[in-house]
Amino acid sequence: MDYSISESLQSRLDQTQAILESDIYPMEATYLKGEWQALDEMLYATRKKVKDAGLWAPHLHPEDGGTFTGLVDLALFAEVLGQSPLGHFCFGCQAPDAGNAELMVLHGTDEQKAEYLAPLAAGEKRSCFAMTEPHTAGSNPTLLDSTAVLEGDEWVINGRKWFTTSADGADFTVAMLITEPEANKHSRASMILVPLDTPGYKMIRNIPIMGHEGKGYFSHAEIEFKDCRVPATNILGKRGQGFALAQERLGPGRIQHCMRWMGIAKRSLEMMCSYVKTRKITATQTLADQQLMQAMIADSAAELAAARALVLETAWTVENKGFSAARENIALIKFYTANVLQRVVDRSLQAHGGLGMTDDTILSHFYREERAARIYDGPDEVHKISVAKKILRG
Ligand SMILES: Cc1cc2nc3c(=O)[nH]c(=O)nc-3n(C[C@H](O)[C@H](O)[C@H](O)COP(=O)(O)OP(=O)(O)OC[C@H]3O[C@@H](n4cnc5c(N)ncnc54)[C@H](O)[C@@H]3O)c2cc1C
Repeated sequence: MDYSISESLQSRLDQTQAILESDIYPMEATYLKGEWQALDEMLYATRKKVKDAGLWAPHLHPEDGGTFTGLVDLALFAEVLGQSPLGHFCFGCQAPDAGNAELMVLHGTDEQKAEYLAPLAAGEKRSCFAMTEPHTAGSNPTLLDSTAVLEGDEWVINGRKWFTTSADGADFTVAMLITEPEANKHSRASMILVPLDTPGYKMIRNIPIMGHEGKGYFSHAEIEFKDCRVPATNILGKRGQGFALAQERLGPGRIQHCMRWMGIAKRSLEMMCSYVKTRKITATQTLADQQLMQAMIADSAAELAAARALVLETAWTVENKGFSAARENIALIKFYTANVLQRVVDRSLQAHGGLGMTDDTILSHFYREERAARIYDGPDEVHKISVAKKILRG
């Protein structure tokens, strides 16, 4: 297994880190204060700088408007960008747009690519992904009950979704809907593209997450479809292929999420180390001199290194041997890295004392927002069960 970094990749990663430090970290105070309009202007100015530097959309191949050079390379970009909650957006590879774009590259018709993929890839449109419903268990999406019924040449959509990340201000959603109610449970759903200015679509609210509501791209909405009609040609892939497509969306998406979390954990650990070195705890000693604090640093460094190696190994396996060779690891990295992330952020917050609880540093945001890492994209328990069953079968 070889994940050595070429000179040109290292140079692009260094350029990315430099933009993070010069442009993106300074925006975080505006983000944490919720000054959305000011933030928007800065975000779009940075996007232009990223495009001019030839670093835009590292998840998409050049022919689709991006700079993709391989899954391990993409994982390394996701780690650098993950250090800031604004990183992925500035580089045009934010979830859920990235996953939606990757799906359309593989399954979109020429018309869908022209209408939806091209502006999405260029950062001119935003999208969201509407699968989870408030009234059915998201852990078992075969229970979904929002429907799309074909009437003439239109799908008529009815249902309610929630936790639709970034729906606020998005241009369209990819919605997972039951189109084949009589089929077997894994073939009942299809993915359908729905422009969000279609009559019958309504955004009900942005859901507050631990006291913070978010806005625009940085939000999670509850939405409703009532007799919402879209052309029959808006189906992505074939009828009944919804879950198969969702699985496909998962592989690269999972690696990007996990490496983003590694970036957060890395920054949290660095913040912890900087803080404990300067925080005097007695007349002659700093927090860094305390062995209990040193143990927290060593545990974090070890867990982070192990989790990072596991994700890179998974990316390498997908890239070199295909998705099915990495299936078990893809479930494994999800719960393992999410828990490492949570422990490292928690230790860093603890080391910062009262300051860690404030919004004066990014840590409280990491703590609040990233708790969800153990829930979205399949909760810990679901992935543990799937890994354990596979091991037991083997
Ligand atoms: C911040 C955030 C962003 C999200 N973004 C999106 C999005 O963009 N689009 C989208 O469609 N969805 C999104 N989701 C929804 C997310 O995917 C679901 O919350 C997740 O799949 C879990 O579904 P649920 O909330 O219905 O929990 P449930 O299915 O009701 O499960 C509740 C809990 O039960 C436990 N559990 C579940 N199954 C088992 C089992 N078999 N054995 C033991 N315990 C079990 C788990 O601990 C789980 O947390 C997001 C969620 C969050 C929090």
